[in-house]
Amino acid sequence: MRKLIKLKKDISIVFNTQITEFLNPDEVYLPIKKNYKLLVKKGEEILKGQIIIENNLNKVISPISGIIKDIEIKNVDGNKASCLVIQNDFKEKNKNYIRKKEQKFDKEIIVSKLYEYYFKYIASVLETKKINNLVISGIEDEPYIANNVYVVTKFSKEILEMADILSTTFNIENTLIAMKSNDTKGVETYLAKMGTYPNLALTLVDDKYLLGKSFFLLEYLNLKDLDTLVIDARTLLDIYNALKYNKFVHETFITISGPSVSRSQVIKVKIGSKIKDIIDNSIKVKGKDNLYILNGLMTGHECDINETVVTKNTLGVVIVPKEDIKESKCIGCGLCFKVCPVKVNPKKAMDSHKISNNCIDCGLCTYICPSHINLRRFLRGEYE
Ligand code: SF4
Ligand code: SF4
Repeated sequence: MRKLIKLKKDISIVFNTQITEFLNPDEVYLPIKKNYKLLVKKGEEILKGQIIIENNLNKVISPISGIIKDIEIKNVDGNKASCLVIQNDFKEKNKNYIRKKEQKFDKEIIVSKLYEYYFKYIASVLETKKINNLVISGIEDEPYIANNVYVVTKFSKEILEMADILSTTFNIENTLIAMKSNDTKGVETYLAKMGTYPNLALTLVDDKYLLGKSFFLLEYLNLKDLDTLVIDARTLLDIYNALKYNKFVHETFITISGPSVSRSQVIKVKIGSKIKDIIDNSIKVKGKDNLYILNGLMTGHECDINETVVTKNTLGVVIVPKEDIKESKCIGCGLCFKVCPVKVNPKKAMDSHKISNNCIDCGLCTYICPSHINLRRFLRGEYE
C-alpha cells in the first residue's frame, strides 16, 4: 500500500439551499480541436443541443441557443485553442431535450445511451467486461476543490437512483458510495437514505490525499482494477441526466475558493463560459493583487481568467494573494521528499536537473513546500 498523507483542510464549502448557478453567459467559447469540422457559419442562428463541430468519432453540441459570432483564441485546459464564439439569445431554444419521466432500462439501452451521450469509456467497460465492483466516488483531494463532495451530498437522490439502476441492470455484486469520513453532511445524508437501497453500501475512507484518484482508491479499498469501475459523482449525475432526460452535458460544477474569496462556493456553470464572467457574477474577491490558479493548488496552474473558458475537465479556480505564494530559496527542510507517495526526491531532481520517470505528477511536493517552489516544473524538466 502506498503512502497517503493527511492535509490541513483549507476550505469550507457553503451548502446554500439554492444551488448557485451561472447559466446565462453572454457568450460561450467552444474549442475547435485538430481534425474537427465546423458545421456552422458566422451569423447563423443555432439551437441548444445542435451539433456544431464534429469529426468521425465525436460531436460538439451547443450548450445555448444563439448566433455564431466569430472565432477567437482562448485558453482551454491549459493550452491555447481556436474557439467558436456563440452569442447567447437567452431563449434556450432546444434541439433535442425531450423530458421523459419514466423509462425502463436494460443493458443494451444503457450502453447505447452512454455511447450516444459521450460516456464512451464507461459504455465500453460495461459492454465488454464483467464488472463485480462499482465505486461511486464522492471524494475530492484538492484542498480547495469540492465538486464531488458537493454533488454527492446535494444530489443524493439522483446518485442513489442511478447507482442502483447500474448495479441491478449489470448484476454488480458490490456497489459502493465512497466518501471521506469527515464529510459529515454527506455521510449523514446517506446514512438516512441508504436503507431503501439494499444493493448499495456506503464506504467511508480516511481524509488522506490521493484517494480522489481511482488507482489509490482501489488500492485502499483492496479492489482489483480488472473487475472494478469507478465513476465520480459529477459524472454519475451527468449520466443520470442523459439516461433519464436525454440531456447532453451542457453544464458542469466548478469550485471558486481560496484565501481571497469571502465565501468558497461550488457553482453550476454553462460549459464554454469565461471564468471571469463566472467570478464577476457570483463571487466577491478580496484584495487586488491576486493569482488565479486553475484546477487547484496541487496540479493546477496560474491562468488569465479573461482568456480561460470552462470545459468538462475544469475543476475550479483558487484565488490567492500573490504575496502568499511568492517563491523563495530552498531551506533544505526535506518535506518534499517526505511526502512523495512514490519515493521520488524532488529537491534532488531540482538540483541535479535529472527527471524522475517514477513521478506521477500528483503535485504534493509543490503544495507542501514552505518556500513555494514549483517543483513540478523541475520534475517535468522545465529548468528555465
Ligand atoms: S509530483 Fe512527483 S515528486 Fe512530487 S510528490 Fe508527486 S510524485 Fe512525488
Ligand atoms: S520542501 Fe521546498 S524548501 Fe523543503 S527541501 Fe523541498 S524544495 Fe527545499
